[in-house]
Amino acid sequence: MRLLKGHPVDSDSFETKKTLIFSIQHFCLHDGPGIRSIVFFKGCPLRCAWCQNPESWNKKPELAFKAHLCIGCETCLDACPQNAILSPGNRNTDLCRLCFTCVDKCPSSALTRFGVYRSVDDIVEELKSEYAFYKNSGGGVTFSGGEPTLFPDFATRLALALKKDGIHVAIETCGMFQSHGMEDVTGPPDTTGPTDPTGAPQGKVWDFLSLIDLVIFDVKLFDNEAHKQYCGTGNAPIKYNLKYLSKLKQSGQGPDVRLRMPVVPGITDTADNLSGWAGFLAENNFSAITLVPYHNMGESKRSWIGLAPGPDLPSLTDKAMDAVREFFIAGNFSCFDPGEEPP
Ligand code: SF4
Ligand code: SF4
Repeated sequence: MRLLKGHPVDSDSFETKKTLIFSIQHFCLHDGPGIRSIVFFKGCPLRCAWCQNPESWNKKPELAFKAHLCIGCETCLDACPQNAILSPGNRNTDLCRLCFTCVDKCPSSALTRFGVYRSVDDIVEELKSEYAFYKNSGGGVTFSGGEPTLFPDFATRLALALKKDGIHVAIETCGMFQSHGMEDVTGPPDTTGPTDPTGAPQGKVWDFLSLIDLVIFDVKLFDNEAHKQYCGTGNAPIKYNLKYLSKLKQSGQGPDVRLRMPVVPGITDTADNLSGWAGFLAENNFSAITLVPYHNMGESKRSWIGLAPGPDLPSLTDKAMDAVREFFIAGNFSCFDPGEEPP
């Protein structure tokens, strides 16, 4: 096993110089140790039915309309240089050039932009005022999304800049990233998975992973067909990547790895799914998991960006959450709430 430290970054690509960020949140306590800032990349290879951040899916900037904030002033109709807005919230997308003039002019923030291209220097400058908080609390910066591994060149440059300043860097990942030298990380993910799990992983994502301190890895649906149904792709690469991250961690070469499972009633909390994951995780030397309760917070965001409603999922009860916790504890796992993991 080896890590490919020092792999050259493609310094000419636009993605390397700037990438699409939909938010940076500060003073967060649930996404890695200590006080952290979370950098949200825009773009994700999965489409999880319960996603709370559907505005992170598309790799392009998006115009959102929040109907509950609109005061009906029609300023946006006059402001649009393309005459693309037919009525408040009703836009001809063929005419729209995503100039976001309407966002600037909207007096009530009913129109919002998701996604701004930002440079490494720009992001580091924003984060610098919080370095003291990171260092005093054992915190740092977490790359999230969306899926940060879709942007390995940019993520590498940002991680290098932060590490140079002595900052702890973590990522939150769905685990769906290319391995085995597949450099076309912007293309559709390989859903077949490598056939030889003993081969050393290669590629820009693994070079990036070699730089960082902590991977917070989502485990969702164990069954491949169920993963396709609820997340949009098969899960073979996810299992491969998790297996290999575990091997690296065991050999002392890779980043620390923490597992996180979204508990979605009737989907991820079924007996088959829990026992499938518990067996796989134990085989791969994991003994702790963070359980993240499902909340129906992504639904309104879907309507803001014109997506069809997601499936009607039941609310998660305390009893169902307790049952998942008890299942893992009975299997000798330690269970944590987000932000309560030991350092
Ligand atoms: S400018 Fe904003 S508040 Fe006014 S009609 Fe357009 S979306 Fe609504
Ligand atoms: S983004 Fe620009 S082109 Fe599109 S509706 Fe708004 S003002 Fe018009």
